[in-house]
Amino acid sequence: MIAGFLLTILGIIMYLYQDMLLLLLAILFFISINLFQSGFTRFCLMERLLALFGFRSELSEIKDLGIMALKSEAMQKSYIRTMNLLNEAVLELSIDGRIITASDCWLQMVNPDKLDMPQNNNLLTYIIDGDRESVATMLSQVGNSSDTVHKARFRLANHGDAERWIGGKFMLESSTDSNIHIRAILSDVTESYLQESKIQYMAMHDSLTGLPNRALLDERLEHDAAQAQRNSTKLGLLFIDLDNFKQINDIHGHKAGDHLLITVSHIMQLRLRSSDTLARWGGDEFVVLLPDIQHYSHLRDVAHALMHKLEYELEAENVEGMITLSIGGAIYPDDADSAESLLVQADKALYFAKDQGRNNVQIYTELRESNLGFYDFDMTNRFSQAVKNHAIQIYYQPIVSSDNESLCGFEALARWQDDKYGWVSPSVFIPMAENLGLIHSIGRHVVATSIANFASTAAAHDGLILSINISNRQLMQGDFHGWICSVVKDIGIRPEQIKLEITESLTQLGINRAREVLESLRVTGFILSLDDFGTGYSSLSHLHNLPVHELKIDMSFIKRFDSEDGMIMLETICAMGHSLGLQLVAEGVETQECADAMRRLKVDRLQGYYYDRPLPWDEAVSKYTLH
Ligand code: C2E
Ligand code: CA
Ligand code: CA
Repeated sequence: MIAGFLLTILGIIMYLYQDMLLLLLAILFFISINLFQSGFTRFCLMERLLALFGFRSELSEIKDLGIMALKSEAMQKSYIRTMNLLNEAVLELSIDGRIITASDCWLQMVNPDKLDMPQNNNLLTYIIDGDRESVATMLSQVGNSSDTVHKARFRLANHGDAERWIGGKFMLESSTDSNIHIRAILSDVTESYLQESKIQYMAMHDSLTGLPNRALLDERLEHDAAQAQRNSTKLGLLFIDLDNFKQINDIHGHKAGDHLLITVSHIMQLRLRSSDTLARWGGDEFVVLLPDIQHYSHLRDVAHALMHKLEYELEAENVEGMITLSIGGAIYPDDADSAESLLVQADKALYFAKDQGRNNVQIYTELRESNLGFYDFDMTNRFSQAVKNHAIQIYYQPIVSSDNESLCGFEALARWQDDKYGWVSPSVFIPMAENLGLIHSIGRHVVATSIANFASTAAAHDGLILSINISNRQLMQGDFHGWICSVVKDIGIRPEQIKLEITESLTQLGINRAREVLESLRVTGFILSLDDFGTGYSSLSHLHNLPVHELKIDMSFIKRFDSEDGMIMLETICAMGHSLGLQLVAEGVETQECADAMRRLKVDRLQGYYYDRPLPWDEAVSKYTLH
């Protein structure tokens, strides 16, 4: 280059001396030297000069391309090496799934043992039949959008029993008129899929019985109802409750109870079709979905078949204790316009079945169509709803001393006012609550609320007594004694201020057990009153055995005070009470004459409309100035 430069200088000098020939030679020499150099050196004057005028030598372009080629080759090698190291397979596909290129990982993915890949193969041929179509559809969609990443999950074929799950991302790589290339990144997601499936299974199934749980039932119910609507068919639903399960659980223990639930669910499952769904609703309640039911009589048939199958199988298995079923059924769309209300209607029918003495089937459709027992049925449903909504109120009726008619205390009485049936008497709804198993809920509510009300006012400090009715079931089930002790303790009131009114029929549940329970309450300090005295049969013979403080003479005797027979009866009852050292209370006192007659009979306290009707607590507080 230096030589060329010197020669050029020389040439110019010669030109100055007008030696044209020599100049020409010098220029030619300069150009040839420059061209020769340009392939090897980074600095080329000629090239620079030409570049000043916007020209690029062909050689420099060739040079650039060469560098790029070298670079991209290296990059590609490293790219492929990296791809092969990854656990993800990278494939280039045509839109119909033909594999154009694939990284090594793909070969290991489809067949870990054989590394030879068949020529001209297609991704779709590796996918199991059930998943192939959806992948093919997805691939056809990839071509339509350049920036969307499509995802798919599918199983590979020919992997024996063990499923091989592949998760893939698919995106458009290039697209010309004739060709669409898709880049696919695939990874083996078998482990995470199985893990996910396991979690999903657990979330949707009851862990004890393995049956679908409520969540899955909801899904199936929605699905089956939608299908019934589409196909104009009917969907049947049975709500099943195991009768006496609680007793079996209490007597034989939770393990036996669990075992029984598993056995029962297994037996019922055997009697159902594969298209039916048997789900555990919770506790000892189950739900069956029966798609394609023609008529409610078929629903009833299935329910009876389940009952018989259970009876037969449990007998064969020698299961201890009588297990029967109460079943309520309803049909979509005949009884309900949605999946949710179908459940509600079947539940109502179940309540009615229980109310009919358990171990029977009631179908909502049938009840509705025949109007048979609908009043009871409807009221039962409305009542259980009221209990759930805490709509049972408590009224308080004053009890006065017969001497001077001063206030001694109040009796708490449950009240239910229904929008449709108005005020319903506790003589109607308390037995209903006992049948429906709701008496505990009501009983606890009455006890806790009335004691809390009573304790929050001066009533508690004025030496007044609060009387509460306790049903036999409430008294004899579970640890009633422990529970009521904790209530009075928490509220901060002495047991001596609470009177528990129990009925004579208590003795029918076993005199010894009754005595035991009453004795423990008495020892704690509660006052015990024998309510409705005189109406029971066994009472007189057992009376001296029961540790009660007081007899509450039944209203039916009080009302007959003005007849000779009535008075003889009352005199006998009072004499007996006095001889046993018991206090006496007269309820249902409606007139001054009645009150006077009771006073003559030396009855200690009086209660009745003559003094006051039962009142809401606020009214009682202001009327009797108990603030
Ligand atoms: P009971 O314990 O004998 O209650 C007295 C009933 O007589 C109450 O009826 C009361 O309203 C009514 N009564 C009071 N004074 C008179 C009167 O002068 N004349 C007439 N004809 N009746 C009068 P109610 O409230 O209808 O209660 C009926 C029964 O329901 C109660 O009879 C009691 O056995 C039961 N009951 C009420 N509340 C509860 C409760 O919270 N728990 C339980 N287990 N049973 C309850
Ligand atoms: Ca009472
Ligand atoms: Ca009574």
